[in-house]
Amino acid sequence: MEIVYGVIRMSEKILFDLLAPSSRRFLTPVLSRQTGAESCPETLDELAAKTADCVCCALRNSASQVVFGQGNPHAALMFVGEGPGAEEDKQGQPFVGAAGQLLDKILTAIDLSREEVYIANIVKCRPPENRTPSVKEAGTCLPYLTQQIALIQPKIIVCLGSVAAQTLIDSKQKISQMRGTWHEKNGIRYIATFHPAALLRDPSRKRPVWEDMKKVRDAYQEILGRRV
Ligand code: SF4
Repeated sequence: MEIVYGVIRMSEKILFDLLAPSSRRFLTPVLSRQTGAESCPETLDELAAKTADCVCCALRNSASQVVFGQGNPHAALMFVGEGPGAEEDKQGQPFVGAAGQLLDKILTAIDLSREEVYIANIVKCRPPENRTPSVKEAGTCLPYLTQQIALIQPKIIVCLGSVAAQTLIDSKQKISQMRGTWHEKNGIRYIATFHPAALLRDPSRKRPVWEDMKKVRDAYQEILGRRV
């Protein structure tokens, strides 16, 4: 038990080191509160149960429920978006609205399925009117994502959109600057691309996303090849 807690704490420390400074500022007190031995879940189900009771930020006031995440608990490939929208808030699953349907098509195009990967968001509760979550809200919710990552241990994380990219890769760069480039930190390869909702608003972004996803596909297949 202690070994498991130690591994999770170590993984969170590594992830903390990876985060953009603006996210660390808000993460520090929450991470300290949530990484006590008695509060370190050993499984995603335990973590999901703990997250479901969270009232750590005001987003919970207007959300119907906490949208934890979905997919393969041992996925080598993880997708992280911004936060739940109306349909996700209603169904309790990430990426099930129009943007989610587009994400499914993108996954199919690179020979992947939703069941094979893991999908989560930076914030687990729907921001009112689908507004962008604040840096403070993202930082407050981040311990749940860091614990998800620690338990899943993905090799590749695809940041969908600027909130995920700026929280996990670099708070100072725009998504248009970051996308399509690999960032390797402590054994995890990060890449950013445009959020599927952005593609729905601006179809001209389909081509760069396709280029980014081909890189993801190739890197993922390389990992699978290593595992065989
Ligand atoms: S958004 Fe995250 S931190 Fe805020 S209440 Fe929901 S689960 Fe808790």
